Amino acid sequence: MASPLSPDAAGTRHPWYNEAGPASWVNCPMRFALLGPPGAGKGTQADLLASRYGIPKISTGDMLREAARAGTDLGLQAKAYTDHGLLVPDEMILALVRERLARPDSGAGFLLDGFPRTVRQADSLHEMLAQEGLALEAVIDLEVDTEELIRRLSGRRTCPVCERSYHLVGRPPRVPGMCDLSHGALIQRDDDREQVIRERLAEYRRRTAPVLSHYQTQGLLRPVCGQQPADAVTAAIIGQLEKRSN
Ligand code: AMP
Repeated sequence: MASPLSPDAAGTRHPWYNEAGPASWVNCPMRFALLGPPGAGKGTQADLLASRYGIPKISTGDMLREAARAGTDLGLQAKAYTDHGLLVPDEMILALVRERLARPDSGAGFLLDGFPRTVRQADSLHEMLAQEGLALEAVIDLEVDTEELIRRLSGRRTCPVCERSYHLVGRPPRVPGMCDLSHGALIQRDDDREQVIRERLAEYRRRTAPVLSHYQTQGLLRPVCGQQPADAVTAAIIGQLEKRSN
């Protein structure tokens, strides 16, 4: 039986494969990861890219927050780490990702947001995909200065309903304190407090920076400057993804 991960298991290929759309999209990577430090803008970019390419966004951070809100064992265990800015143990993350990738909607491609964050996660992802004859095709690294990350994260307010992010100064909601889309009351995430932000950044340097070197060695890493307006970042990412086929 075909695995949900294989391109045809969902019954269709990616919508752009057979369309007479821009030629550069035809061979565009459809299994890619978006990495970068906390506050680099991964979530915002991932939403835009997932909708452009018609593939699911798989965000381990969103999945953990959802599990914590639902009060599941996994969610509560994970919260003990996320509240302190520490990475959640690999086994827990890998179980979540394995289950998510097995769903049919991942068959035509997916965008990983904030995963893999350790070399062990990267190796396990490689094995999961290799079992299906697949591989990650590109890894985008969103680069932003530390000072700017702290500014962004400490002013960030998030909608707990739809996970959309705002910034008190840079991207305020239309009505103060309320999400433009879901109208939920905006919150400051527990891990967006200054002390926790510093720990998250330290954890990123300690454990996720080696993942970038790992993908650089494999020729998959595509750096993008995340310190420009959001639409310019999106354009730069698309340029990196689609240039392969030009
Ligand atoms: P994010 O929203 O992606 O910044 O994730 C929020 C928090 O969830 C992180 O600070 C980690 O504690 C945890 N987390 C998310 N993704 C991972 C991952 N791939 N590995 C370990 N911990 C993760």
